Amino acid sequence: MATGRFAPSPSGRLHVGNLRTALLAWLFARSAGSAFLVRMEDLDAGRTREEHYRTQLDDLAALGLDWDGEVVRQSARSALYDDAIERLTAAGLTYECWCTRKEILDASTAPHGAPGAYGGRCRDLGELERAERRAGGRVPALRLRTDHQVVEVEDRQRGHYAGSVDDLVLRRNDGTAAYNLAVVVDDAEQGVEEVVRADDLLPSTPRQVLLARLLDLPVPTYAHVPLVLAPDGNRLAKRHGAVTLADRLALGEEPADVVRLLGASLGLIGSTPVELLDGFAPDRLPREAWVLGAELLQG
Ligand code: GLU
Repeated sequence: MATGRFAPSPSGRLHVGNLRTALLAWLFARSAGSAFLVRMEDLDAGRTREEHYRTQLDDLAALGLDWDGEVVRQSARSALYDDAIERLTAAGLTYECWCTRKEILDASTAPHGAPGAYGGRCRDLGELERAERRAGGRVPALRLRTDHQVVEVEDRQRGHYAGSVDDLVLRRNDGTAAYNLAVVVDDAEQGVEEVVRADDLLPSTPRQVLLARLLDLPVPTYAHVPLVLAPDGNRLAKRHGAVTLADRLALGEEPADVVRLLGASLGLIGSTPVELLDGFAPDRLPREAWVLGAELLQG
């Protein structure tokens, strides 16, 4: 038994890709007889829309997905994140960073790792330089001081994955905890033992594993599942047509039709999530992205 979860950001209606990931996370948990939690990742206040806490939960429920306990909101949990950041700071593992987005992109010297990885401009500022920047009044972000080590992950779906970890942001300069920190703190605090999510987050996983280790928190197991793509090969989005449950219902479909469609894309047969449990086996799941047919999105 390994408690699972689905952690959407309430920034819009869930689309078929999000719903399929939610269904998979539920299938992994329930097929193992485990608890399944839902957590709203709403730290980005600029993107969060109040109505979508409700639409997202309603859509999950309409498909027949159930969850255990209260749905938590990250926006109500900042004390937990502050506490974790304090522990890292006390261990000498953080530093302030005044770089703008543009400066980070312009720094062509980033020696390590992924595009967009932080080059370390503020890492070794002297006390005087720091004092100058503090006096400048701009609020700094807080970064993790890493040694760019390579962290390895054994993913249940994707196998071995390794990535070098850069000096990631822990607290953004608007004062909110960054995603990578919050997700690690929450998964541990909520007792999540198995993270099932879309595989666009696989590259973030080494960062999260390192953070969990540094914070002395249990590292969950991971299963990254393929994305759903639009007919043009891009990530699915509203502009691609009838992508949300509401859009599908407006075409005259029932929630059961959507469950059947999602199930069929996974090689499973059934009109409810419980029926899909029957043939579910993680090692038989497709490994490639599901590319939606154009006809499907026009209804
Ligand atoms: N909130 C993230 C998203 O909606 C998912 C985070 C996760 O599952 O770790 O993409």
